[in-house]
Amino acid sequence: MRIVVPAGGIGGARFLRGLKAALGTDAPAPEDQTTGSSITVIGNTGDDITLFGLRICPDLDTVMYTLGGGINEEQGWGRTDESFTVKEELAAYGMQPTWFGLGDRDTATHIVRAQMLAAGYPLSAVTEALCDRWRPGVRLLPMTDDQVETHVVVDGGQGRRAIHFQEWWIRHRAALPAEQIVSVGAESAKPAPGVLAAIAEADAVILPPSNPVVSVGSVLNVPGMREAMADKTVVGVSPIIGGAPVRGMADACLSAIGVETSAGAVAEHLGADLLDGWLVDEADAGTAVEGIEVRSRPLYMTGPEETEAIARAAVDLAVELAGTDR
Ligand code: GDP
Ligand code: CA
Repeated sequence: MRIVVPAGGIGGARFLRGLKAALGTDAPAPEDQTTGSSITVIGNTGDDITLFGLRICPDLDTVMYTLGGGINEEQGWGRTDESFTVKEELAAYGMQPTWFGLGDRDTATHIVRAQMLAAGYPLSAVTEALCDRWRPGVRLLPMTDDQVETHVVVDGGQGRRAIHFQEWWIRHRAALPAEQIVSVGAESAKPAPGVLAAIAEADAVILPPSNPVVSVGSVLNVPGMREAMADKTVVGVSPIIGGAPVRGMADACLSAIGVETSAGAVAEHLGADLLDGWLVDEADAGTAVEGIEVRSRPLYMTGPEETEAIARAAVDLAVELAGTDR
């Protein structure tokens, strides 16, 4: 099977590990010779930020490190065995910002990326080069080579202003009420090379439990993306269980766009034109959304077996619905 997965960071990366196991594509090469299955990840780049002259792509790196065995497992982001000497030294110079967790090992990735971008390589080529080292076992494509950044309009007392998503998320812990979430640059962005072809060739699109607004939503905001995916059988895994995010602050993002924090409301927001099937947790077994096949099962990614079973359920539902889709 050929599966396309638009993914954010931690939730997306952990799900992808389960999907690789479910499809038997655990080989380091993207195209597994024995199973013929392949996974193409369309990574969110809306979280990307330039700090200290380095372009940082948190979601692409989280997927790459998680699938490549370099992730800090407990934390879910950043490198294992990390140190923060560069961050401390920058702070000693009074360099701002100080709220971003820039690790030393991680910094090497950003230096390679910055150097390649400065030499004129597009982000997709840079990502491919970085994956040469990490061998994530999936084809990892940025959603776009163009610069798209998620900004959040907040009213912090000194009037309305737009801040970068990372500042809102990390520095303010999403506690500053958001009035609006904007994908700056999205209107003129183009899907990265290979993205539309991968979708066109896919047997199914699976939405992992990533943030529906700032991860999956950002990918869908790239012109042409949503339409291309809607043409396929699309199955999603709810990131919301029992009216709350499992981790992170997705509820703050959903409120900002006027969507209730519930598995059903998220499916409705994604839309029946896009979604064919939607997996919700047993806690949300009563969920019904017009035009979308909703199934309930345990959705906590508590360990490798549980995560693989969730991924298998998503693939099975996609196969089942592909028979009836259009
Ligand atoms: P993202 O992948 O970059 O969007 O970042 P996060 O990992 O912060 O968020 C992903 C979403 O995944 C959050 O909204 C979480 O509620 C959700 N999530 C995290 N762990 C689990 C899990 O075990 N099961 C489910 N169903 N959702 C999860
Ligand atoms: Ca993210």
